[in-house]
Amino acid sequence: MDMTTPPRTVAVVLAGGSGERFGGNVPKQFTKLAGKLVIEHTVEIFQNHAQVDEIIVVARAADVDTVWNLARRGGWHKVSKVVCGGADRFGSTHSAVQALASAHGATRVLLHDAVRPLLTAPVIAACVEMLQTFEAVDVVIPSSDTLVVVNDNGCIASIPSRASMRRGQTPQGFRLATLRDAYARALKAGKRNFTCDCGVVRAMLPQVEVATVEGSETNIKITNQLDLFLAEKLIQCGGIQFAEASDEPGSLHGLKGKRIAIFGGNSGIGRAIHDLALLNGASVHVASRSSNGVDVGDLAGVQAWLHQLAADGPLDAVINTAAILIKKPFESMDAEELTRIVSTNYAGAVNVAFAARQHLAGSRGALLNFTSSSYTRGRAFYAVYSSTKSAVVNLTQALAEEWQDEGVRVNCINPERTRTPMRTEAFGTEPAGTLLEPATVAFSALTTVLSTHTGLIVDVRSPRAPMPA
Ligand code: C5P
Repeated sequence: MDMTTPPRTVAVVLAGGSGERFGGNVPKQFTKLAGKLVIEHTVEIFQNHAQVDEIIVVARAADVDTVWNLARRGGWHKVSKVVCGGADRFGSTHSAVQALASAHGATRVLLHDAVRPLLTAPVIAACVEMLQTFEAVDVVIPSSDTLVVVNDNGCIASIPSRASMRRGQTPQGFRLATLRDAYARALKAGKRNFTCDCGVVRAMLPQVEVATVEGSETNIKITNQLDLFLAEKLIQCGGIQFAEASDEPGSLHGLKGKRIAIFGGNSGIGRAIHDLALLNGASVHVASRSSNGVDVGDLAGVQAWLHQLAADGPLDAVINTAAILIKKPFESMDAEELTRIVSTNYAGAVNVAFAARQHLAGSRGALLNFTSSSYTRGRAFYAVYSSTKSAVVNLTQALAEEWQDEGVRVNCINPERTRTPMRTEAFGTEPAGTLLEPATVAFSALTTVLSTHTGLIVDVRSPRAPMPA
């Protein structure tokens, strides 16, 4: 490397752990999170980052081929090596250092836990920048909990000042020469009992200053089932931030030329999706009971309509917004109302999915369902509606898994209260400014259709609504 070329940046994704604390027989980096494996989320962050030139994955010997298969499937062209990990984290990092034996000492190396799939691009950029000045950098966040040091007997030995305490995350960044030196010294001294790589550098090269950059509360390390649950929720909210952040004209340009079928597209959210998709160059087809007599509760009718559309070309997305909401006590519903809600909201979702599968498998397309916030907990006075919406979520998640290998994505939008004719009919006029506009929901829906995610339940909240606790 001559002095004029900037050093390369290599990301090392450490996936060599066996995940004993997680339980189950699959290590946590190979568990499913929002329709993908945890490690897929993690590697793709580096794959998509402009400042990362190369990626090395460290995996258990038994997982090396699995990682190569994922790399091929995901088009991760930056992955240059998948190397075997060691018995402990020290051994795994050392394996990566050896894999970089011929790299220039000025190379920037970012070591990242495979089990931190929610790392954001700015943190990577901050680490790369810090390595221009420092030889090593850690990513840390303040600790809102007080940290206490305990003795062997569990009693408190000391309580360090919280102001100077930080919680260490990853990535941890190093100039390769420094990392090599620290590891060589540790090996020579027979020391390998470190919890992280900055610890190796601090212990072996005390003269080297390790800088810090601010990480993020959401850069969590998936260690147990609760972490997985939190990560899933954070990705769902993240989908919306992503949608809102890219709310500029043209951000739906991927819709151009796409063929989209919308059930329930004649009013409310369905209509808004129709309008927005059309505006962005899609060819949009709408079915509803009122416009062309297609009732989602009737499988044969749904199949016939989709067949007819497919005869003119492949379908890229099928969106089902058809639903009925009747709010009143359970016992005061009549038989017709009960059947109509179940038939439209639940049987309708099943029918649309069943009929759409063959068309979407051909186009590697997307199915999009709609739920309501009542899916998480049944609501008095619309028990049937809320329970059907819960079923739709379950259906979405199950089909996302079943159809993943065929490349069919299945997601579900969970809009906050939205200003639609169905809502006005059930709730009357509600205070201005308390309802989401259908166009906002439509934007998130179409962004989700274009995304590569599957199995997501995407919460759409108005910008003023706080994050759920
Ligand atoms: O074990 P711990 O929870 O600290 O793991 C953090 C990261 O280090 C995980 O992504 C894990 O896969 C990786 N690791 C590794 N090799 C080991 C142990 C852990 O690559 N032997």
